[in-house]
Amino acid sequence: MKAIVIRGYGEFDQLLWEEVPTPTPGFGEVIIRNHATGLNHCDTDLRRGLFGIEQQFPHVMGVDCAGVIDSVGPGVTEFKPGDRVSPHFVLSCGQCRNCQRGLENICLKADLLGITTWGTYAQFVKVKQHNLIRLPDGISFADAVAAQVPFATAWEALIEVGKLRAGETVLVNAAGSGVGSAGIQIAKLAGAHVIATTGADSKFAAARALGADDVLNYNSGNIPAKVMALTGGLGVDIVLDMVGGERLRDSIGALALGGRIVSVGAHGGEHVDIDMIELFRKHISIHGCGRSTRAMVAEVLGLVAAGKLKPVIHRQFPLSEAAAAHELMESRAFFGRMVMDPWQV
Ligand SMILES: [Zn+2]
Repeated sequence: MKAIVIRGYGEFDQLLWEEVPTPTPGFGEVIIRNHATGLNHCDTDLRRGLFGIEQQFPHVMGVDCAGVIDSVGPGVTEFKPGDRVSPHFVLSCGQCRNCQRGLENICLKADLLGITTWGTYAQFVKVKQHNLIRLPDGISFADAVAAQVPFATAWEALIEVGKLRAGETVLVNAAGSGVGSAGIQIAKLAGAHVIATTGADSKFAAARALGADDVLNYNSGNIPAKVMALTGGLGVDIVLDMVGGERLRDSIGALALGGRIVSVGAHGGEHVDIDMIELFRKHISIHGCGRSTRAMVAEVLGLVAAGKLKPVIHRQFPLSEAAAAHELMESRAFFGRMVMDPWQV
């Protein structure tokens, strides 16, 4: 099969379209014929050696895919060739304490697809049957792959962890990111008022089209005061943040009494000075998350199939042109997701 292989850390030219052995299924394993794979922030970090793990080379990255089961190994009882599926990127063990509690997203012995194992930048992908999610009818492979990581992440953050209620106000940082654009839609679906931030005025219209009630440019300064002005001096109930750094500091200043911050990323700064007096006086809580469960993925894919959530695809590429997709992601000149087709040439 063909795959995008990296043989070391580096720039875009490290992404090599090469022939590699096609996987075969062992006990309890399936082989997926992969029809769509998404580009995630962690991919560019991993390529550049910034992910914080010791990578084995050669490596095939890629954390998400959607396709059709091509073959199954012995012991596979739940799925058969022809089934439309996606693997969950947390390759949980199915046996540890957390797995038994239904918290396979924080499995104690999990592999991570495309990070600790070969991933989805390939024409075929091998996973165990208990790591699969069945795709609903009527959802395209591109939409399934574009939707699952951002929508499930935003769903976990806002609904499961943030406990968002109808009538609350949500601040979504980085509206143009995958999780940001998903978060706007989920917050609106849950009945919230949504204030979004972006780094460019040119992205305002796209953020509003997703449902944002107000949009602010985070480069224009003084976000806390602007949020207070938009909320009659109350502040927002929840901040969905995937940026960290100064943006997280601003977010604390924009919170209402009893407000919650849900953090799912920190590309803008991993260490943040927090005024603990402000924290306890305002009854603020800060939650970290970012690995949804298969149940959450199935829930959001059902909402996409029902037309209630719409994944935003910025551009589709042949997988062989992964370098161009990485370059576009690093330029930040996109709104929504990049999806790659391993069979398109
Ligand atoms: Zn486990």
